[in-house]
Amino acid sequence: MLNIVLFGPPGVGKGTQAALMVQHYGFKHLSTGDMLRNEIKNETPLGKEVKQLIESGFLVSDGIVIALIKEQIAAYKDAKGFIFDGFPRTTVQAESLDKMLEAQGTKIHVMITLDVAQEIIIERLQKRAVIEGRSDDADLEIIRNRFENYEKQTKPVMAYYSAQGKYHIAKCSDTPESTFAVVEKIIASHV
Ligand code: AMP
Repeated sequence: MLNIVLFGPPGVGKGTQAALMVQHYGFKHLSTGDMLRNEIKNETPLGKEVKQLIESGFLVSDGIVIALIKEQIAAYKDAKGFIFDGFPRTTVQAESLDKMLEAQGTKIHVMITLDVAQEIIIERLQKRAVIEGRSDDADLEIIRNRFENYEKQTKPVMAYYSAQGKYHIAKCSDTPESTFAVVEKIIASHV
């Protein structure tokens, strides 16, 4: 089993790289953003609770996303590996993830941070807003809010994995495939 934290600011391309990793390695993709959007779409009580926060670009509480991830880890315990996308976003979540995996006799093996210039990200987010109809991608003020939360609440997660010797950076290049070549090299050094 190989467990990967796919990390980086909103719009950096985590979903695209995760899809390539699923195709290539057959790992299970766990995106808390997708799970939450699904709850909103299905108008569940949880969906109703988080809708406003997500649409304004704030993080939902640690307890909510930890519970979602815990359920998925248990449901797919025979997976070849997990790709954690958009989780953990706080050090509390990272600590909790370590405990959950330890209880299943496994761990995070590698963290891959995707890195790309902020101007390119903003352009991409605004394109995605049109294609996917994501209101949190459409408004510049909400995008700024998400970046600010990333800097304040999420970036410390890098130091958390760095202290464990698991931090890797993949500088994104022109195409998803050429970025994936970098990701593949990092993974190859862990299998
Ligand atoms: P994403 O698709 O990963 O960009 O997530 C979309 C939104 O869902 C974020 O802006 C947050 O509001 C919420 N969200 C997703 N994952 C988390 C998380 N791990 N912790 C807190 N909020 C999250």
